Amino acid sequence: MGLEEKLPSGILLSTVEGLAGYMRKASLWPATFGLACCAIEMMTSGGPKYDLARYGMEVFRASPRQADLMIVAGRVSQKMAPVLRQIYDQMPNPKWVLAMGVCASSGGMFNNYAIVQGVDHVVPVDMYLPGCPPRPEMLIDAILKLHDKIQHGHLGANAEREVVERETHALRE
Ligand code: SF4
Repeated sequence: MGLEEKLPSGILLSTVEGLAGYMRKASLWPATFGLACCAIEMMTSGGPKYDLARYGMEVFRASPRQADLMIVAGRVSQKMAPVLRQIYDQMPNPKWVLAMGVCASSGGMFNNYAIVQGVDHVVPVDMYLPGCPPRPEMLIDAILKLHDKIQHGHLGANAEREVVERETHALRE
C-alpha cells in the first residue's frame, strides 16, 4: 500500500524547505523601480490584461524594505548604479533580482562609457530576460521560471550568495 493510501484524506506531507519555497515564490513583492523603456512593459504586466496579481505579486512596493524582488527594467547608467545598489541593500533577505531586457542584462546597444555593461556588475542576478523590450508575456514567463528556482532552491541559498557576493566585492575594492 502506498503512503498516500495510508494517510487520512486532507493530510499533505512536505518538508519545511519545500513549504518555505512555496510560500516565498507565491508572495514575491517587486520593488517599484523602472529605469527606461522596459519599465513600460513591466507596468503593463501589472495591469488588468496581463494581471500579475494572479501570482500573488500585485503590489509593487514603494519601499525597498517591503520588497523581495528587484526587476531591473532598463539600462543602468553609471550614475544610477550606486543608487540601484543602495536600493538592493535596503531590501531584506531573501531577495531576488531579474534583469529585464538586453540593456539591463548586458548593456545591449549602449556599448559606451556611460552605461553599466550588465547589472550583474552591481548586484547579483537570478534571472536574465532577453529582448528589446521583452513583452509582458516574456516577463511573466521569466517570473514563473524564477518561481520555480525559488521553490526548488534550498533555504539558505540566498544568505550564502550574499556572503560570496560581499567577499567578492571586498576583494575588488
Ligand atoms: Fe529600452 Fe530596449 Fe533597452 Fe529595454 S532593452 S531599456 S526597451 S532600449
